Amino acid sequence: MRKLKAIVQPGCATCAHRVVGYPHIAAEWTPDLQFVVTVQSDEEQGGVERLQEAGLANLAWIRGAALEEGDVVVPHATKGEVVVLLRESDTHHALFMTNRCNSYCLMCSQPPTSTDDSWLVEEAIAALRHLRRSPDVLGLTGGEPLLLGLGLRRVLEAIAQHHPTTRVEVLTNGRLFANARISEQILAGLAQPVRWLVPLYGHADFVHDFVVQAHGAFDETLAGLLALQAHGQEVQLRVVLIGPVLQVLPELVGFVGRNLPFVREVALMGCEPIGFALANRELCEVNLAEWGDVLEHAVRVLQRHAIPHLLMNMPLCVLPHPLRSLARQSISDWKNVYAAECESCIARKDCSGLFAWHEKGWKPAPLRPIEANEVLA
Ligand code: SF4
Repeated sequence: MRKLKAIVQPGCATCAHRVVGYPHIAAEWTPDLQFVVTVQSDEEQGGVERLQEAGLANLAWIRGAALEEGDVVVPHATKGEVVVLLRESDTHHALFMTNRCNSYCLMCSQPPTSTDDSWLVEEAIAALRHLRRSPDVLGLTGGEPLLLGLGLRRVLEAIAQHHPTTRVEVLTNGRLFANARISEQILAGLAQPVRWLVPLYGHADFVHDFVVQAHGAFDETLAGLLALQAHGQEVQLRVVLIGPVLQVLPELVGFVGRNLPFVREVALMGCEPIGFALANRELCEVNLAEWGDVLEHAVRVLQRHAIPHLLMNMPLCVLPHPLRSLARQSISDWKNVYAAECESCIARKDCSGLFAWHEKGWKPAPLRPIEANEVLA
């Protein structure tokens, strides 16, 4: 969650607002949305207050935050901060749906809590109303969004209503789709294409259930994947490369090729060094450069089964040359940094770089700047 320090007008409601610059109030204002107006001077602040006195109750001023016009934010006047829900200029857009989860993955970057946070559904719907430009892709994350049931369906319908051209990606463990009532409730007759991003960590229950720390999860996830297929949904399988998963990776992708050939693609992903991954460091920290042969083997298996595949969260320099063209710049803008080693690297503009918190955790492998005379892919 991206939080910025700000001076917010006292009394400003703690709910979704669209950011507008003071000079653009007249062009942007509409009675059915909430606005925070970025002001640069006492004169502009006074101008906003005069508009309020004239009857415009749905705006408030804000100062001192690095906000951009079109951002969708939740101001917290008493805390002196603002939470950015969506940033128009970002490459990756995502809404956080819940912190609850029915799994407890060894490397979870967002350790779950049991608190009722169903209000996030209303916040997400409000954020969608306040977003002025439709992104190409919008992610819904958690926690486990399927726990929201009809709440998730309402968010999907709000996206279809306000952003019909946007492609939706939902990150889910898929387990609750094993329940026919829930899969019907959420999937039947969806108005908009949705891609379901579903993690699979093993070719057998003993691996997957161990990684997600939930007995029965493997069977439920497989049933969920079949329910997605039955509803004609697009699936990206996600495989986070921690130690126990790398040990069975060729078997896992072979299992996918034989049993789940309908998946749209398989994403092999570097681990985010935060949350439970830090607590389970001995299982989650790997030097990916030492697993190059296994990655190449897994990719050959996927090629043999004609399953499209990609690599995420992996710097180019840690990968064997033949795999570099599969790597994508996948780390969310606000989490993404580069290291000192990257300054002299010619591949930086094409490289995913690192998670911002790698210094408290680890790098995927020692970095080695790529030089001009080196073959990139
Ligand atoms: S040195 Fe930095 S920019 Fe270059 S490939 Fe490695 S991580 Fe990417």
